[in-house]
Amino acid sequence: MSLQDEWRKRDRKVLWHPFTQHRLWEREEFPVIEHGQGVYLYDLDGNKYLDGISSLWVSAHGHNHPVLNRAIADQLSRVAHSTFLGLSHQPGIELAEELLKIAPQGLTRVFYAENGASAVEIALKMAFQYWQNRGEKKRKKFICFSNGYHGDTIGAMSLGGVELFNQVYQPLLFEVLRAPLPRCYKCPKGRGDCEEDKWQCLAKLKTLAEEHSQELAGIIIEPMVQAAGGMIVQPKGYLKAVEMLCRQHKILFIADEVAVGLGRLGKNIACELGFVQPDLLVLGKALGAGYLPIAAVLATEEIFSAFLGRHHQDQTFFHGHTYTANPLACSVALAGLELMKKEKRLENVNARARQIEQWIPKFNQLPSVFHFSRLGLLAGIELMKDREKYEEFMPDEMVGFQVARSARKRGAILRPLGNAIVLMPPLTISEKELDLLLRITWESIQEVLEELG
Ligand SMILES: *Cc1c(COP(=O)(O)O)cnc(C)c1O
Repeated sequence: MSLQDEWRKRDRKVLWHPFTQHRLWEREEFPVIEHGQGVYLYDLDGNKYLDGISSLWVSAHGHNHPVLNRAIADQLSRVAHSTFLGLSHQPGIELAEELLKIAPQGLTRVFYAENGASAVEIALKMAFQYWQNRGEKKRKKFICFSNGYHGDTIGAMSLGGVELFNQVYQPLLFEVLRAPLPRCYKCPKGRGDCEEDKWQCLAKLKTLAEEHSQELAGIIIEPMVQAAGGMIVQPKGYLKAVEMLCRQHKILFIADEVAVGLGRLGKNIACELGFVQPDLLVLGKALGAGYLPIAAVLATEEIFSAFLGRHHQDQTFFHGHTYTANPLACSVALAGLELMKKEKRLENVNARARQIEQWIPKFNQLPSVFHFSRLGLLAGIELMKDREKYEEFMPDEMVGFQVARSARKRGAILRPLGNAIVLMPPLTISEKELDLLLRITWESIQEVLEELG
């Protein structure tokens, strides 16, 4: 029994993993990670894996980055935690200043959270209470989108539109208004941009907004790409149309950039790509750079000022978490933002994005590659059993997981979303490393397709 086998055994005895079917986990040869360096992770037996998903979309600057390590160590020698209730601290103040520098115009206030889901809850509560405080008490509803994902707490799940994740909890969730988002490539008229689908979806959204105009608090959307829904890239102009609708009906425009913000799409803020200015902007995942959990909600002065009152009970935003604005987390997030500039992350993302583009024809040659979506340094390769007949792989074929397993043997960590293979490597990935990741991904898909016949 290897060292790793022993630890696997101990894991299987005591642990319950997220999003995991433990019947399968029993048989899974999962790596037990011992350390990381750059884009690589190393397991207890010394195997090396290219981290193709940035440890679930967070490790933007790679693992074990000396500058980030130092940022934490420096803060650690001062103070590890001090509450934001009644006190303040420099890393929290500085991080807010830096976030507002890169944020779209109009955002002037930063509220911290510890993860994406709670940040989404905060944005929801802010939007709701904004209208309550202004005396527009009927505005309680939210429009959200099919296939959207905003986290796993009850409020965030209520907004979420990934059926697989939500179905069982449906009775617990609050009511929302759900609009379709175009999936142009799935339009029966053929792949590529299908204008018809785009306009139909937009028309439905418009009708929904008009019908509920007086009771709407906000619209929440993942700008440019629905990530957990399967890396679904929105058609050009769609985000702008959603924003215009919000302005027309005076609804708050909430952008959840937990997955796509902070460089992933080649811009600091994904809303820049859609030329929109949200009223509330949610950041997470890459903000903590894979070091410590931190997220943030950025709000406009208009929203903030609706919470100003005469005493503690008056108009106040009653929300906080014990570790809100943890100084260690703020320090590492701040150092991450500095690295973005200093190490020219966006330039690398845009160069690597072009590199991915060149691989698309090669992937499309594989008979079950239905659609290759990508934007910036993010890609989703959707597999389908028969792409001409729109025949999906069955859940028990576990095609995504098999590809990930095959990739692991070849030295890369992938984590699929259903039948879509996701590529979200660290923003630091080099040309050579990305070629390796794409090659491993291609070979793994090919191998699994051959096995499935
Ligand atoms: C991951 C994600 C969340 C939830 O973030 P957690 O930190 O996992 O709670 C929310 N919104 C989007 C768009 C996400 O991708």
